[in-house]
Amino acid sequence: MTLPQTGMTETVACPYCGSKSAVPVRSAADIVQCLQCGTVYLRTRLTDKALYQLYQNYAHEGSHMQLPTTQEEVEQSGLRRTAFVEEVLEFVEPAGLWLDIGCGWGAMLDQVRGRGFTPRGIELTRSCVDFAAMALGIPVSNSDFLESRVQQRSCAVISMVHVLEHLTHPAQSLRKVHASLIDGGLFCGIVPNFDSLCSELLQDGWAWLDPHYHYVHYTPKTLKARLEEAGFAIERLYTATGDYGEEIVLGYIQSVAPELPPSVSYADLLGAVEADGRGEEIRFFARKID
Ligand SMILES: [Zn+2]
Repeated sequence: MTLPQTGMTETVACPYCGSKSAVPVRSAADIVQCLQCGTVYLRTRLTDKALYQLYQNYAHEGSHMQLPTTQEEVEQSGLRRTAFVEEVLEFVEPAGLWLDIGCGWGAMLDQVRGRGFTPRGIELTRSCVDFAAMALGIPVSNSDFLESRVQQRSCAVISMVHVLEHLTHPAQSLRKVHASLIDGGLFCGIVPNFDSLCSELLQDGWAWLDPHYHYVHYTPKTLKARLEEAGFAIERLYTATGDYGEEIVLGYIQSVAPELPPSVSYADLLGAVEADGRGEEIRFFARKID
């Protein structure tokens, strides 16, 4: 994939607090940490317009977003995220509007419809929007979340699965999520964990650094702080290996610890890494409180 030409990039202040005081924390791209609020962000990045163009190729062949070609693929796709949806159901009754921001071709929304929610999506990639509408009958807006029309206090659940880190205006987006939820509604999702084991070990080689698309990097601590500032109470927040791939992480653990005592397994070590807040992704479930 090639990035658009220079002239399509801009340099930004901290997307949460607006401070320009920051120090570099990686060198693969202009990735810095805000000295005011601790947020890690991509300081030099594509403009919103260039980004929209880039997303039109996001569902290309071979991509994790590739469109299904059969009903079986729709029903079997891991993007339906059964375990995640079941976790959400620990916190809310299965009724009302579920808005999935960055919904792709609608796999998870197809599932939540079957559970009793009314599905609605927002997605930048046009081919995904068309698939969701025409093949699945799910209404999806082809727009940026901040530009889309969402009625205030209308949603029981709003989800962003591997999406919050892609947003160019995350603070405004969190405010809009809050305003769009009913009282007591749930905001949930998954983001990469900048404090993860592989992020630390691999530094610039960490796959989820992804400076084409990942504009803000969260840790369990900074994500919790940003959500609470936006008016949410954390119901649950933890790290897991998740979509990064268990074999990859186990491989790195084995490279660091090539021999183990007989009483310890690599699965035990992986569990300990996740429990220590150093899994590759952060899963969060946050309730609107005020
Ligand atoms: Zn900041």
